[in-house]
Amino acid sequence: MVYVEGCIFCQIAQGKIPSDVVFETDKLIAFRDIHPKSPVHILIIPKNHVNPRLDLTQQDVETLPEIFLAAKEITRKEGIGERGFRLIANVGPESGQEVEHLHFHILGGKRLGPMG
Ligand code: AMP
Repeated sequence: MVYVEGCIFCQIAQGKIPSDVVFETDKLIAFRDIHPKSPVHILIIPKNHVNPRLDLTQQDVETLPEIFLAAKEITRKEGIGERGFRLIANVGPESGQEVEHLHFHILGGKRLGPMG
């Protein structure tokens, strides 16, 4: 596992700083966003540090199906699987990405506005 010094999500992945964890496997961890933008706002990350803009590899891409399956399980548990939700990743400066460790936002629990 690659962890980067000073990366807040690497610290969460290692349990070095507290987070509200809702799902975890050996490769992934999902936790509630500290500044929720919707009633359900959860982040799913690979534990391995990957900058999606700079160093995404074939191996990292292979975790994507697991992320989708994790999203399915998490949204079912949160009661929004049937209602619908948004699963998105911000990548790079114009997207507003703040944390340079690959992460997917699950947003739901209300009618979401248009993208963009
Ligand atoms: P992004 O703008 O796509 O990079 O999203 C980063 C997200 O991480 C934001 O929604 C932040 O609110 C969230 N965030 C930052 N620090 C933490 C933390 N310590 N625990 C949970 N969520 C965090």
